[in-house]
Amino acid sequence: SIVVTGATGHLGRHVVDQLLEKVPADRVTAVVRDAGKGADLAARGVRLAVADYDAPETFEGLFAPGDRVLLISGNEVGGDRPRQHATVIDAARAAGVALLAYTSAPASLTAALADDHRATEEALTASGVPYVLLRNGWYHENYTERLAPVLEHGAVVHAAGEGRISSASRADYAAAAVAVLTGEGHENRAYELGGDTAWDFAEYAAELSRQTGREIVATPVSVEAYTGILAGAGLPAPLAAVLAGVDASIEKGELVVTTGDLSRLAGRPTTPLAEAVREALAD
Ligand code: NDP
Repeated sequence: SIVVTGATGHLGRHVVDQLLEKVPADRVTAVVRDAGKGADLAARGVRLAVADYDAPETFEGLFAPGDRVLLISGNEVGGDRPRQHATVIDAARAAGVALLAYTSAPASLTAALADDHRATEEALTASGVPYVLLRNGWYHENYTERLAPVLEHGAVVHAAGEGRISSASRADYAAAAVAVLTGEGHENRAYELGGDTAWDFAEYAAELSRQTGREIVATPVSVEAYTGILAGAGLPAPLAAVLAGVDASIEKGELVVTTGDLSRLAGRPTTPLAEAVREALAD
């Protein structure tokens, strides 16, 4: 089987959708925490397995020898994600899976947010399980799904200076994962994945202005000020600091990826930011 964890998350749903274009549904297993949330996947013929990264016993017997597994990193920033991911890695090793691909972060990213990914990569590469590191860059959607305050204030507030980002859509990263899960020759490789075209916040604001017909400007602030703004918007202080730390990394160019790995694996150019903006504005 091809087994996808986090299958009811945003990225996981794209992965399952794209897998179903390539392989019969009964060869795909979706690992979900909540079977109800995965009911639509089951209705399409996908097998459901209910398991939680926090409950190792739920992964016992879940994988079979020869499975190809995509471990989608958990979303509890500030929790113990390395331990959660190790639970899946241990179960995969015990079962003798053929491949375990993990959604990581670019090697260039030094922000605190990357620490969990580095720890998981170490556990995975030391496990002896044939692995693939899908070092995903930033999603367009991190920005395009948060347009309400931007449109309200006519400002994209950020702490990234003139830093550039090679983001891509979740569907692009999903295509790379599907290529690895259904292709050959990817064992024990690391892919640095990012969009074909890097942009900065001034360019992003200009694109928003163009598509909305309103004046939207980029407003650079300091990392400290941005941390305060995020906390003021209701984010827990530690998470606000982590996210502002990402902007500091962006300013240093740490989320620019120039390998071309993503479009090469996807077999097509990555989605332009302008297209993601268009989709978000149409919603
Ligand atoms: P989502 O938050 O939409 O999905 C996360 C998935 O992980 C969900 O399916 C969730 O299950 C599952 N999950 C979380 N905790 C557990 C657990 N304890 N046991 C089992 N499953 C669990 O994120 P995305 O799909 O958008 O992105 C995938 C991952 O990529 C994120 O989790 C995060 O690690 C990382 N990320 C990357 C970004 C980038 O720009 N590259 C931006 C944001 C996140 P359920 O459906 O039940 O909630």
